[in-house]
This record gives sequence, structure tokens and C-alpha cells, in this order.
Amino acid sequence: MQFDSKIKTIDIVNSSTPLVINLSGKFEISYANHFTDEKDFVNTILEIFIEDSILNIDINLEFTYQSECARCLSKKENKMKNSKSFKLNIDIENDYEINFDNEYIDIEPFISEIIIDNLDTLYICSNKCKGLCGLCGTNMNEIKCNCEEKNLKESPFSSLSQLDL
Ligand SMILES: [Zn+2]
Ligand SMILES: [Zn+2]
Repeated sequence: MQFDSKIKTIDIVNSSTPLVINLSGKFEISYANHFTDEKDFVNTILEIFIEDSILNIDINLEFTYQSECARCLSKKENKMKNSKSFKLNIDIENDYEINFDNEYIDIEPFISEIIIDNLDTLYICSNKCKGLCGLCGTNMNEIKCNCEEKNLKESPFSSLSQLDL
């Protein structure tokens, strides 16, 4: 089920105690070398209340996603657990486009922010990852191909490497 990130504004306004909501579902991301597939999901617990025009949102989330090594393209399943609190003055314009004149407020931008803040910009499976062979595509962490040797011999420049330049 797709993640439904909309909350009725009136429910927040009418609640005298913080509104506690549990929302979960599919939440797609594609950021740097991280992405989601069919089985990935986000599970969130939100606490929302408004006081003197300040909207307070506490979000706890659990999120599963995949990462692909930038060098060898191997995939890894990941899970993150994070939380963050937001405070917004709803009387002035905000980056999250929260407007209490609308029937619903959409918490999607908050969820995205938490997730993206906690992803590496470049995932590498290991500092020692040797990557793929540029010629035959073999994963050099698994087997060593002999392209390098062969290439040196066959290269038109190979004779140059024998000269002392
Ligand atoms: Zn790798
Ligand atoms: Zn190779």
C-alpha cells in the first residue's frame, strides 16, 4: 500500500492533546545510489499539535531501502531508524508548504527530509572494494580477470612502457 501522507487539518486543530498517528506504507526514493523496491516500506509514528500558531511535529520513522555500491554495483538491503522534531509558524510561509487553510496537511516533505538527511551521498560497499573491471565487467572483489595483463601486451602503446621516458 502506498504511504498516505495526508492528515486532516481539522483533526489537528480540534485535538486538545497531541495527535498520535501511526502511518505506514510504500515510500519511494531514488537518491544518490539508494533506492526502494517493491518490498521496501516506511513506518512512522507522528505526534502533532498546534499551539499559538506553532505547529509541532515529532516524527519517528523506520525505513527500509537498498543501496548499490558505486564501484562494484553490488546491492545491500538497509534499514534506518530516525527521529526529528519540526516547529513551524503556520502564519508565515514555510518551505514545507503547510497551509492550515487547506483541508489536509501533507507530511511527505518531512519524511523525505529525515530520510535524505540520513543517507550517504556515495555508498561504497567497502573501502577496499576493487570495483568492476573496465574491460570485461567482472566484479574484481570476486575473481581476478586477466584483462590488465592482456591489455598491456596488446596495447599499441605497450612498447612505450618499455622505454625509459
Ligand atoms: Zn563494492
Ligand atoms: Zn577484466
